Amino acid sequence: MNIALIAHDGKKTDMINFSIAYEHILQKHSLYATGTTGQRIMENTALNIHRLMSGPLGGDQQIGSMIAENRMDLVLFFRDPLTAQPHEPDIIALLRLCDVYGIPLATNIGTAEVLVKSIEQGGLDWRNEVNKEGKGVILNE
Ligand code: PGA
Repeated sequence: MNIALIAHDGKKTDMINFSIAYEHILQKHSLYATGTTGQRIMENTALNIHRLMSGPLGGDQQIGSMIAENRMDLVLFFRDPLTAQPHEPDIIALLRLCDVYGIPLATNIGTAEVLVKSIEQGGLDWRNEVNKEGKGVILNE
């Protein structure tokens, strides 16, 4: 499964702790992250991460394009709701694409824990079927 990991600066500690706690699950999947988030995770775990651009420099949009191409199965996006982000339009676009294609999305560590545990229980197996068909699900059509 392809999993995207993104954390705003105020949530990077949460993301590192999350990655350490769930390393045993995450290591079984292909991991993608925005630049700094990926770097911090790799510094603190043995996880191998495909690092994209930093979020404000286009990383969110790169993950968005993977969603549009049905190449992303789960997005774990630890947003900081208390700090203004210069790339807010990119953030909104990424969240929107998750909704367009029905991609499971966590915007905080609490939901991320539920979703990651769900992978182990088969809760996201339907994504394998979608991937076999070669196209994403557009729920609101
Ligand atoms: P970063 O980007 O991982 O490069 O910090 C995340 C973001 O701020 O969207």
